[in-house]
Amino acid sequence: MEFESQNRTELSSIGEFGLIKQFRAAFTPKQTTTLMGIGDDAAVIQNSNTPLAITSDLLLEGVHFDLRYVPLKHLGYKAVVVNLSDICAMNAIPKKILVNLGVSNRFSLEAIEELYAGIQAACQYYNIDLIGGDTSASQQGLMLSVTAIGETQASGAVYRSTAKEHDLVCVSGDLGAAYMGLQILEREKSVFLANPKMQPELEGFDYLIQRQLKPEARIDIINGFIERGIIPTAMMDISDGLASELLHICNESKVGIRLYEDKIPIDSLTFNTALQFNLDPTVCALSGGEDYELLFTIPQSAYEKLSKWNAISVIGHVTSAHAGCEMIAKDGTQHPIQAQGWKAF
Ligand code: ADP
Ligand code: MG
Repeated sequence: MEFESQNRTELSSIGEFGLIKQFRAAFTPKQTTTLMGIGDDAAVIQNSNTPLAITSDLLLEGVHFDLRYVPLKHLGYKAVVVNLSDICAMNAIPKKILVNLGVSNRFSLEAIEELYAGIQAACQYYNIDLIGGDTSASQQGLMLSVTAIGETQASGAVYRSTAKEHDLVCVSGDLGAAYMGLQILEREKSVFLANPKMQPELEGFDYLIQRQLKPEARIDIINGFIERGIIPTAMMDISDGLASELLHICNESKVGIRLYEDKIPIDSLTFNTALQFNLDPTVCALSGGEDYELLFTIPQSAYEKLSKWNAISVIGHVTSAHAGCEMIAKDGTQHPIQAQGWKAF
């Protein structure tokens, strides 16, 4: 494996405490609310009156990531980002993270440093403190778990369960690109496995691969809400695909949703690559997942506050529960939305 070449320092040579010492040196707290970061039995953070949002994610090698094409630095970055995205989905601003690590002797010190370089890049970019974690040897492979803590707004957290009939359904960014990035990486992996001398052909697909390997959490959208005085009625992030998330909002809020296929934001590269793969671009956007965009509802009266905000698309509106979760296709026909796309035409 790539990261085993060049210099290889066995983790056992510096030991768990040596490793933690390195983390501590690399992650000195930046926030005044971090009273104690890495280095004691527990972190200590300043308590405010603000309700906190807290979330955790577990990533297992071979289940959630494949190190044959995911560079460790990207893995570290993405592991942080997916948690920050969950915090944003509560209309909160992420502030701190903890990282738990299980690592086998297959990994060198240099490999773990790569992983933490990615974690550090995310901490810097999003201005958050890594305040602690735990480290253990594992029998096999890599286990990575990130916990994130964020502060909600004065208006309170925004849940999935509070969408109201007649609200507008909105989404940030564009959808389906991360899924197409995965298709490209999987294709190149099988080409490589069949013939290791083949060079991967990733050129021209940069945007898709970046969306898969280096997604971003939309803190900019949360800040955009604050600037514009928008309080979403309901919100969640899109990790499993638009269709599945729409159904969550319908179920939790006891409403229906009417989605318009022609309003779903799909980048032209995603669109064209999907066609090359004989996939329906709309299905990729509905079922692809890992976009880490925000799906939210706002009252119709807030529509004007979205004006000139290119990052946001209005894709439908909230209906009554008995109207169901339906998509109006480009040809005008209506289809019930299902977790895996929608009922075949
Ligand atoms: P304890 O034995 O009390 O659990 P540890 O030796 O595990 O303490 O941890 C010492 C310090 O290092 C703590 O502040 C802990 O949060 C931090 N830490 C341990 N592992 C990690 C890690 N993988 N990433 C970040 N911080 C860590
Ligand atoms: Mg410990």
